[in-house]
Amino acid sequence: MVTVEKKNSDFGKKSNFEKKVRELVETGYSGVEEAILACKNCPLHETASNKVIGKGSRTPKVLFIGEAPGKNEDEKGIPFCGRAGKELDKMLEYMRLSEEDWAVINTLKCRPPENRNPKKSELEACKPFLAAQITLLDPKVVILLGNTAEKAYCPGKKLEWGVPEEINGRTALKIYHPAALIYTRSRIETQHALIDKNRGLWE
Ligand code: SF4
Repeated sequence: MVTVEKKNSDFGKKSNFEKKVRELVETGYSGVEEAILACKNCPLHETASNKVIGKGSRTPKVLFIGEAPGKNEDEKGIPFCGRAGKELDKMLEYMRLSEEDWAVINTLKCRPPENRNPKKSELEACKPFLAAQITLLDPKVVILLGNTAEKAYCPGKKLEWGVPEEINGRTALKIYHPAALIYTRSRIETQHALIDKNRGLWE
């Protein structure tokens, strides 16, 4: 089993946080799913229709971390199932990742009302789930889809877009969130360039 200490050195700065993550990891991925479904650790559970846990492989080479569920995701309980999901699908194809190669999760499992940005307190409350999911999925590469994922994964660090760094015992790479490509189509070309220069991380 992957140790929490080794893989979450930055995540696990506070001992009670580390303890929570270890307890979650010990329950396995289905235990983490159950804990998320039962969670009332922040007010977002009151307005969410569904908890959104993740999708994809349980042994991914590449783990994408998004921000939070939107309207479609909240209704269906599935991440990236709306327009941003279609952009993610195109990205997966461009990256030449097959089904068993990838998984996607969000920093928050409940939708913030009106799709507002996650609050710091909400990111903190949900972070043990994020850390436990990463530990159990144990990807080689963590792809941070935008600044909120970066804030949750490596608080206080500012990664260059498309420049990989070793963080928390893994290779982390920050690229654009698929939703950011919907409204600014010129970013697609930039995103492809960021992907092209990093193919060696997963191929
Ligand atoms: S967002 Fe996370 S911490 Fe908040 S209620 Fe949902 S699962 Fe729990």
